[in-house]
Amino acid sequence: MTDCLFCRMVAGEIPADVVHQTDRVFAFRDINPQAPTHVLVIPKEHHPTIGELAGSDAALLGEVVGAAQTVARQEGLIGADGAEPGYRLVANTGPQAGQTVHHVHVHVLGGRNLTWPPG
Ligand code: 5GP
Ligand code: ZN
Repeated sequence: MTDCLFCRMVAGEIPADVVHQTDRVFAFRDINPQAPTHVLVIPKEHHPTIGELAGSDAALLGEVVGAAQTVARQEGLIGADGAEPGYRLVANTGPQAGQTVHHVHVHVLGGRNLTWPPG
């Protein structure tokens, strides 16, 4: 039994709106979406931060990013040309970045204009 929210979602102890998974990665809709598409992609194995994961299992980090691309294509964010309309990946690390769940997760955001400043 773990107190990690995302480990518990992977284990099926807490419900998740799953949009994609493989044997090693898991993707589900964020409960508080900040864009029309807001999906979290996580490794099924517990790792605290994306930087730690890069050092300990770079291949798994690659699978997380690949799964984000798969989700973006499913959501219609990647067109036939491979780019349009596009999406944003966000990975928060630490309190000043607003990391609230200490299990690596990449936010996949899209479906609205995300540029700075909005134009
Ligand atoms: P962070 O702020 O750590 O980068 O992102 C954590 C994300 O997890 C937030 O966007 C938050 O809305 C999402 N979240 C927190 N609790 C739950 C939950 O129980 N279910 C889902 N689907 N998302 C959650
Ligand atoms: Zn975990």
